[in-house]
Amino acid sequence: MNDLNTLWGEVADRLKQDIDPYHYKSYIALIRPRSWDNGRVVLEVPNQRFVEWINSSYLETIGELMTAASGRDLDVRLVSKRNGNTPHPPPARANPFNDKYSFESFVVGRGNSTAYAASQAIVEHPGQVYNPLFIYSGVGLGKTHLLHAIGNAVYHERPELQIAYVTSEEFTNEFIQAIRYDRSVELRNKYRNLDILLIDDLQFLADKEATLEELFHTFNTLYNNAKQIVFTSDRPPNEIKLDERLVTRFEWGLVIDIQPPDIETRIAIINSKAENEGVKLPEEVVDLIAQRVRTNVRTIEGAILRLSAFSAISEQPITVKMAREVLGNILGRETPKVSIGVIQKVVCEHFEIPLRDLLSKSRSAAIVFPRQIAMYLSRNLTNAKLNEIGLQFGGRDHSTVIHSYNKIRNLVEHEPEIAALVSKLERRAAAGGQ
Ligand code: ADP
Ligand code: MG
Repeated sequence: MNDLNTLWGEVADRLKQDIDPYHYKSYIALIRPRSWDNGRVVLEVPNQRFVEWINSSYLETIGELMTAASGRDLDVRLVSKRNGNTPHPPPARANPFNDKYSFESFVVGRGNSTAYAASQAIVEHPGQVYNPLFIYSGVGLGKTHLLHAIGNAVYHERPELQIAYVTSEEFTNEFIQAIRYDRSVELRNKYRNLDILLIDDLQFLADKEATLEELFHTFNTLYNNAKQIVFTSDRPPNEIKLDERLVTRFEWGLVIDIQPPDIETRIAIINSKAENEGVKLPEEVVDLIAQRVRTNVRTIEGAILRLSAFSAISEQPITVKMAREVLGNILGRETPKVSIGVIQKVVCEHFEIPLRDLLSKSRSAAIVFPRQIAMYLSRNLTNAKLNEIGLQFGGRDHSTVIHSYNKIRNLVEHEPEIAALVSKLERRAAAGGQ
């Protein structure tokens, strides 16, 4: 029996239970025990990149687990297989992507599943399926996260591919510098020899004619060589002031939007973030945040971090009362002050029907549809409970409200015209019915 192998087997099993399965599979499973000599253990990994990554993320835990499992104080070192005997291994190419933003840590829901699937497809088949891919949404809904997720997956799974991420502001600056210092050729080489180019926040290029011209040529070169380009923006292509030719190019590929997460997805996001941060949130607190923070995942993260910090400092467990106090202004800020009455007024005005009919028992299609939309908006924009909404719509029960909500949610997802109508009514209601 080999003691070191047994010891390592135990430690690896422990790690497997504790860490992200993806990390386990990509890193820990590739570690091989090499030697155990007096209090020093040497573990071998495939290359220097692993040494650095495991050193920074897991070495301490590995050391503690080995010490605990062996009952002896052990000093654990990593060496890379290829460079195991070279004193100065060449520096590895560092991962330029934020490893917090991975596909694994992205919560998929109705509003973002298409963007998620398309991003994954790009790692599998760059340049072949959706080219270019154009993702747009409001702030804090995961666009940058998805670009980094593509980057991380390529870095770990397809290291043979050349990939670059750049914000459109960085691209502009590089372009200006290149002209000033006569380095246009270098710039072209940098961007035109890639397999995948990720450009974040394209809206900042609006009206920047010279930069857009450069981008257009970069685009054409990559596109003609079947190389992948992914853009994000806070609005659809035809609403950014871009070169018409570029807008036409977007139609060759896939343009998708990310919708704000619905309540179920918000709950899933909150639970996942809390778990990642090691924060215990009672269910009522999860519900409170999910009810109140509707349109920006970054705000959800901020709320969790604040609660967690407050709970640590005050040495008190997190409760609803604490959440209301600590998050007062975050929750207040996101909540539009919309009443069911205002929603009903806005919907009646739009469909030109009397309020009396909206609240009646009428089953005529001309009334049922507006009523369902009004219920949907009431659930989305107010904090009213289901039975409360039912009551305000002529005394219907909560299952009718759920049915209406699901029906409209489905339409919003599949029919762009209805999605546009619903957002218009939503904006009007949020503006107090003006
Ligand atoms: P955007 O670029 O669209 O403004 P980001 O990608 O920067 O938004 O996202 C803001 C924050 O919210 C990030 O920390 C990101 O990890 C998180 N986030 C957004 N959407 C999701 C999601 N579906 N699942 C998990 N985290 C998300
Ligand atoms: Mg972003």
